Amino acid sequence: MTTTNFMEVTFKAISINESFARLCVAGFCVQLNPSIDEIGDIKTAVSEAVTNCVVHAYPKHNGIITMRCEILGDTIKIVVKDQGIGIKDIEKAREPFFTTKPSEERSGMGFSVMESFMDKVEVEKNGDKGLVVTMYKQIGSSVMQVSNAS
Ligand code: ATP
Ligand code: MG
Repeated sequence: MTTTNFMEVTFKAISINESFARLCVAGFCVQLNPSIDEIGDIKTAVSEAVTNCVVHAYPKHNGIITMRCEILGDTIKIVVKDQGIGIKDIEKAREPFFTTKPSEERSGMGFSVMESFMDKVEVEKNGDKGLVVTMYKQIGSSVMQVSNAS
């Protein structure tokens, strides 16, 4: 499927930018005419991915986050990328309740939330530095069928 539109933003990995990223993606998605629920799902998933970069990727300094959104037909593709410490065992990190920061009251549910709100979530190393989280969601797939039967 070819990309009919895209946008890319780069911002500092600090917590105030979590809401910026959410709003930014929501604004871009409007062209797909999403429902309020779909927009809510996307914002939640983006929040989790960006918060992970803020909380986990850069323990020693504030690095950067790059977020790219693409329109592929009726699907939105969102890529959230950092150049931080990365994850050794990605499979393990994706398990529900797995966290390396229990002391900070993290519940280890971020990846599970992304998976439940989006159609597909891929997590890969960003070369030898950091992480790439790619999420897909088809818009308009959950339209309710209204019956005319009386
Ligand atoms: P919660 O999201 O519920 O607050 P959490 O962030 O620990 O808790 P997940 O989002 O599921 O849970 O992430 C699981 C683990 O994966 C994290 O504890 C962290 O060790 C690692 N991780 C996630 N994202 C990154 C990242 N961008 N860079 C480095 N490590 C990461
Ligand atoms: Mg998290």
